[in-house]
Amino acid sequence: MTTPASSPSDDAITGAATVTDRCVEANARYAAAFSDPGLSARPAAHVAVVTCMDARLDLYAALGLELGDCHTMRNAGGVVTDDVIRSLTISQRALGTRSVVLVHHSGCGMEGLGDEFRQELEMEVGQRPTWAVEGFKDVDQDVRQSIEKVRTSPFLPHTDDVRGFVLDVKTGELREIQPR
Ligand SMILES: [Zn+2]
Repeated sequence: MTTPASSPSDDAITGAATVTDRCVEANARYAAAFSDPGLSARPAAHVAVVTCMDARLDLYAALGLELGDCHTMRNAGGVVTDDVIRSLTISQRALGTRSVVLVHHSGCGMEGLGDEFRQELEMEVGQRPTWAVEGFKDVDQDVRQSIEKVRTSPFLPHTDDVRGFVLDVKTGELREIQPR
């Protein structure tokens, strides 16, 4: 965080610093204090977590995970897309993970996003997106569908420990969703 009193000259030099400029500055401080913890590329807890890109989800804190413990795949909605299956396949087959945790959440921006979004997009840009929007109406149902997609993927050797949850962003609590 910068304060007006602390760095007037920096402010004058950078002008209107963008958020990316601030990230780069923060990295200089991070790297200066960094020491290699010597972690393996193979997640220590042998788990892959698939979740939403939502800015409110502090996954490591919410799940008691430490750096080096898990693979994390995030996208809009925490949807199990072909690309998530690609990452899970590499995670399991090349990097030793065995468990999959799916975390969707309350108040997701994908809730209620549907065909209208896709149609408006197509109208505006004159091109139909090749990807599905993957919005949903019922978050529990969406978690069940995601569990099913992972469990039935022919590419994944480990599908016996696949569990799905909804994280309440107001209370921080996880609620497990039972598969069909
Ligand atoms: Zn979300």
